Amino acid sequence: MHVVVIGAGIVGLLTALEVHARGHSVEVRTAGIAEGATFAAAGMLAPTSEIQVGQGPLWAIMQEAAAAHRDLASRLPSLSAGLPSSATAESAGYRADATLVVARDRADLAALQDLAVLQRTTGAEVTELLPRRIRALEPSLARNIAGGVRIARDHQVDPRRLAATALRILRGHGVPVVTGAVRSLDGIAADRIVVAAGLGAARIDGPHRDLDLALRPAHGDILRLHVPRSLLLPGEDHLLGGTVRALVSGRPVYLVPRTDGGLVLGASSREDPLAGTSTGAVLQLLQDAAQILPSIRETELREVTTRARPGTPDDLPLLGPVPGHPHVVVSTGYHRHGILLSAWAARRAADIVDGHPSALPAAVDPARFTQTQPHPQPSEENSCR
Ligand SMILES: Cc1cc2nc3c(=O)[nH]c(=O)nc-3n(C[C@H](O)[C@H](O)[C@H](O)COP(=O)(O)OP(=O)(O)OC[C@H]3O[C@@H](n4cnc5c(N)ncnc54)[C@H](O)[C@@H]3O)c2cc1C
Repeated sequence: MHVVVIGAGIVGLLTALEVHARGHSVEVRTAGIAEGATFAAAGMLAPTSEIQVGQGPLWAIMQEAAAAHRDLASRLPSLSAGLPSSATAESAGYRADATLVVARDRADLAALQDLAVLQRTTGAEVTELLPRRIRALEPSLARNIAGGVRIARDHQVDPRRLAATALRILRGHGVPVVTGAVRSLDGIAADRIVVAAGLGAARIDGPHRDLDLALRPAHGDILRLHVPRSLLLPGEDHLLGGTVRALVSGRPVYLVPRTDGGLVLGASSREDPLAGTSTGAVLQLLQDAAQILPSIRETELREVTTRARPGTPDDLPLLGPVPGHPHVVVSTGYHRHGILLSAWAARRAADIVDGHPSALPAAVDPARFTQTQPHPQPSEENSCR
């Protein structure tokens, strides 16, 4: 098959990589390279701490997606075999440290404990920890934390490094990555076209536009800090040993440490009309984070980024062939979980290209928001007698 993938965010890049690995000819066409939501994302691979009440169909997909990321991380050396430099899980920023979720006060702790009951129903390993144990694991955290949980299998990847790794492998194997916004699918010569253009999918003309994709932007503000060595004790590499998520008076905030001393602090989720950075959201993030990790005040603020997540009404992605147009495959709507879901999305899109779309859960059907128009019934006055 000759497959054209539209979009070079994390979903498009990993899809191109998987489709190429299965022996198809691939071409990527994109407005920009990993500059959309992927550029902002923290990269938490969090199938358990992201569980929300009422989103049952998503839970199993998130678990499968986390496994797909572990598998991808282990396959990177073979995917890059023969190229001048080998890719590894480490070079893509994959880290298998557990995630701590901590509560600022007793009400936050009660909320975490309630959620832990739900999380355990999925088979996840969620261990409740007393404040003393939390401080032993992460000595930089505030002394007055009320408690928390440790989630063993919620890991992280660095989305920018993973995207750069995928791009390097694709280019190394001679896959063309052509930049320039695609306006229409007309005239694209391909056996299959995968529309993985995030929010941009709804602006490209093609058979998928007959569907109601119901995509909406959910803006997120996120900060990138750097921990100076002067803040660390002898023998320490970072202020945090792993991802720390927190509830602070009911508001979620997270801190994701990187091996180079970076610390990602996020993230707001706004559906207000402000497309640029929200001052109030940044202020709130900093205030909440400082209650959990007080020494954040002495870090260096290096970047503030705002991007829109490609949201859908039910928070589930849109993945599958367009009814009546099996050569066009939609892969978007990954909302808050697009980094986590990307390796799964890549596999499923490649399955469709390979002719096995039946493995897809109905919950991600891209036509699920489309009202089928009833055929107009002739009225009595207009009908012929
Ligand atoms: C602040 C923030 C934090 C986040 N943190 C996490 C996290 O920790 N974990 C997690 O799992 N998810 C997280 N997400 C969500 C995640 O970033 C997204 O779901 C994911 O990046 C979506 O990837 P994508 O490839 O579908 O879209 P994008 O990354 O937006 O990429 C879309 C691509 O399509 C291209 N494109 C658009 N229009 C066209 C066109 N007309 N023609 C050609 N190409 C086009 C763009 O140039 C771009 O390359 C976060 C998001 C935000 C904003």
